[in-house]
Amino acid sequence: MSSVEKGYIITHDPVKGKCLVATKFYEPDDLIFDEEPFVSCQFSWNNLYGYRACNHCLCPLESISENITRLTNAMITEVPFEDHCPVNNLVQNFVQCESCKVWYCSRKCLETAYNRYHQLLCRPDGNDPLHDLEELWRTMHYPPESHNIMLLCRLLATIELSPSPQQANQTVSNFCHRTENENEKLVHKMLGEKFIEQIEQLRFGVLKSMSVRESSQWLTPSGFKSLLALIGTNGQGVGTSIFQQWSNRCKKNLSSDEMLLFDNFVENAYEVMEQVVGIDYLDNEGSALFQEHSSINHSCYPNAASVFDGNHVLKLIAVRAIEPGDEINTSYMAPCELDHSRHTRQKYLRENYVFTCQCIKCELQSNDPDITTDDDSEMEDGN
Ligand SMILES: [Zn+2]
Ligand SMILES: [Zn+2]
Ligand SMILES: [Zn+2]
Repeated sequence: MSSVEKGYIITHDPVKGKCLVATKFYEPDDLIFDEEPFVSCQFSWNNLYGYRACNHCLCPLESISENITRLTNAMITEVPFEDHCPVNNLVQNFVQCESCKVWYCSRKCLETAYNRYHQLLCRPDGNDPLHDLEELWRTMHYPPESHNIMLLCRLLATIELSPSPQQANQTVSNFCHRTENENEKLVHKMLGEKFIEQIEQLRFGVLKSMSVRESSQWLTPSGFKSLLALIGTNGQGVGTSIFQQWSNRCKKNLSSDEMLLFDNFVENAYEVMEQVVGIDYLDNEGSALFQEHSSINHSCYPNAASVFDGNHVLKLIAVRAIEPGDEINTSYMAPCELDHSRHTRQKYLRENYVFTCQCIKCELQSNDPDITTDDDSEMEDGN
């Protein structure tokens, strides 16, 4: 398919770098494209705490009652409307890696994972440098998680196993377009000052865990920082918990009487879960890198949004009319954060993504005083 048929092209701007530009007209709600991740991985703490998800596509493998039983430490074991749990019909397809015993939702996911990266990362033995590396990462990165060092290992393994490692390296280079100085800032922001000394430890951990030939350029001190900065800024949260999926189905299908029972149950279950495991453990997600999505720049007045279809397919949807020649933008902030003052938005974007926003909204507000929005603290680093 040519880029023109696709309805968009990727161009280069001297200031912004890559830009996604429309080549045709889009109405609000039109699909611009959808995309599977280049690489994705469940968060480390979620995995440790027993969220069973497909090791490749992150679709949940535990039923709603297993999920709630686990998160409430068996204080709740009976769940109403269980027939709306999507996992129940899929259990017969679940399959394990024969060697390391990780689970997949289907043979297709198992084979895709094995061929793309898993054969280099399959570790039957728990006493292994790769497990040590993950443990080190967990000590540096407490929930709520936003990145995982295993995503970086999968990325390296994908390059190693690619039929054309040179092209795979080029793809990753296209992702990593920042200067060394910008990478340095991003890594500091991501890990926090207290862990900055441990970057070299992480790098040695990766070197010890896997043999790299084709991807060795990423394991020099500066190559490694650019990969860390990449997963820090371009890593998209993926995966939807079984609790969320089950709730969505119930809301669509239940009668209003049933909804009363449902709401009561959910409210109570949340309270118990919060006491037992804490709210930070309630999302079973992971993070992923998307090639085409990575060329979309931020705007505080976006004309498109990324939404999930299933667990890890990301769709780009128009939210306003888009004319041919318009740049297609999404927002890197939560919707409510877009209402914050220009000063607050720009500070957030500079610190987390190292750029100064020059979107139309920021331009229009360029004479606003530099006031900080009150609930600013929430926008400070979440890690
Ligand atoms: Zn799967
Ligand atoms: Zn395995
Ligand atoms: Zn802006």
